[in-house]
Amino acid sequence: MVPTRPLEGDASADVVVVGGGYLGLWTAWRLLELEPELDVLLLEAAICGHGPSGRNGGFCETLWGDAPTLRERVGDAAGLAVCRASEDAVRGIGAWCEENGLDAWYRPAPLLRVATTESQLGSWDDSVGAAAALGEPDEITALSPEEVRRRCDSPLFLGGALQRLNATVQPARLALGLRAKLLERGMRIHERTEVTRLCEDGGVETRFGRVRARENVLAVNSRTAGFPGYRLALAVASSHIVLTEPVPDVLDELGWTGGEAIVDGRTLVHYTRTTDDGRIAFGWGGGAMGFGGRASARLELDREVVAAARVSLERFFPQLRGRAVTHAWGGPIDVSPTHVPIFGSRGRTHHGFGFTGNGVGPSYLGGEILARLALDRRDDRTRLALVEPERAFFPPEPLRYAGGATIRRALLAKDAAEDEGRAPGALTALVASLPRRLGLNLPR
Ligand SMILES: Cc1cc2nc3c(=O)[nH]c(=O)nc-3n(C[C@H](O)[C@H](O)[C@H](O)COP(=O)(O)OP(=O)(O)OC[C@H]3O[C@@H](n4cnc5c(N)ncnc54)[C@H](O)[C@@H]3O)c2cc1C
Repeated sequence: MVPTRPLEGDASADVVVVGGGYLGLWTAWRLLELEPELDVLLLEAAICGHGPSGRNGGFCETLWGDAPTLRERVGDAAGLAVCRASEDAVRGIGAWCEENGLDAWYRPAPLLRVATTESQLGSWDDSVGAAAALGEPDEITALSPEEVRRRCDSPLFLGGALQRLNATVQPARLALGLRAKLLERGMRIHERTEVTRLCEDGGVETRFGRVRARENVLAVNSRTAGFPGYRLALAVASSHIVLTEPVPDVLDELGWTGGEAIVDGRTLVHYTRTTDDGRIAFGWGGGAMGFGGRASARLELDREVVAAARVSLERFFPQLRGRAVTHAWGGPIDVSPTHVPIFGSRGRTHHGFGFTGNGVGPSYLGGEILARLALDRRDDRTRLALVEPERAFFPPEPLRYAGGATIRRALLAKDAAEDEGRAPGALTALVASLPRRLGLNLPR
């Protein structure tokens, strides 16, 4: 793939989109759908899709897992509307791939939430209860241990719940395919072009010039915190993945042939899935984290985190001993204080961030929202409770004082103790509970 030409000097457009991950790409696509004659310019600091959008776990989820939080924060009707819109997004990605002839390995299959320790049993109760309270009990249902192991026979799985609507994708195929389709439509995309400033009049500045525009869209994931006014709006965590060689024999032995994406109930979750070419991808959200812009440099690839993920992979699936892990990688996660993504406008800048490890499906919805905000069109999408929510910030103190590293250590110690069937120590439990006590929700 050849990168597009960097922007050298000045330019102009109706709308300039900053960031070429799923959110920026979907927004650009939707802008052209809404107004085919619109002059849209997309600026990407590196290469579109080379960030988390091209290297995530490919879980394409709804926001049903956040139904308890949504009910609490915005009420039943508004919460249900968000869940429904997020379902449209999961289905919409499949339909888009179909219509555009893109083979992104889109595979609809439910999401399985599992307990791998006694302490995780029932970690899905809130979600099951929320779905029932919203009148949709089939969306998330509890399963017996036998039902769980019939779907995937890991010796660690003690019970679980099934989230009905879900899919998996090959993330890079989707991101690069979206980029290619935009280029085919004649969209101007300048890669290796970092935006250094958002201007009040809707334009932006790069290192080499200025772009005049009526509106701009900020879709830069964890980098959002680097722009004035957004520093405490999100925190940054990280996630890492290991990928095995093709192991179709192991998948057969596990009976894991239905394509279910699986996530456990730890605080720093493990997540795992199969791929179209018969591999197992296994991820862990236990990498570095930072609050108030203090993100660590070890977000991209932390070898200790990769090694720990590999150990966990073999605990989940002992049949993999002696089988090769062929790829490993990591990347940053933009953590919203409420665990749900945030969209809105500040003057002529329209922003989206805070996917908190669930951005594949919701970024499609985000594109629908941001395109409408940039065009000042109001409808059921812009009225969703994800848009201009009541402001929540990562408070500078005492969280920042305690620091991401301290909280991460406590979360690791808590999960490790529970893995061994022990209760965590009192101090560990206290520090690990700090974010939630402050009303903050950590990833997955
Ligand atoms: C290892 C890992 C596993 C994950 N697994 C899953 C999963 O299974 N399911 C799921 O739903 N989510 C998952 N996620 C999260 C998901 O990848 C993200 O939520 C999603 O890709 C966010 O898309 P985005 O467009 O907001 O961000 P990005 O993909 O990060 O795109 C933002 C782009 O902005 C560019 N940029 C940054 N600053 C500037 C600037 N100043 N000027 C111009 N461009 C700039 C960046 O180079 C980047 O390309 C995972 C993330 C990681 C790291």
